[in-house]
Amino acid sequence: MATHRPAASAAAITYTPAEAVHGPTFTCPRCERVYPYPVDHGAPVRCECGWWYTNLGHGRIIEEFRPRIGGAKTKGPEAAAGPAAEHH
Ligand SMILES: [Zn+2]
Repeated sequence: MATHRPAASAAAITYTPAEAVHGPTFTCPRCERVYPYPVDHGAPVRCECGWWYTNLGHGRIIEEFRPRIGGAKTKGPEAAAGPAAEHH
């Protein structure tokens, strides 16, 4: 006597929880917005409040206030704009 199971077996479904931003985050100390942590020598975090946070590597973050309103005087080199230095 063969106990025969019906072939129609529902496929197992694995529910994976939706992961939020994975990895370290950076919180703006001025307005407490949360961003992905800026990578070393990478693009700076440009906060909505106007502050830029650039990672110089080794955990050093420089802060710079750059209001995005047009007409703001540029009193410094646009050092953070370029791509990161290439490593050979
Ligand atoms: Zn901010």
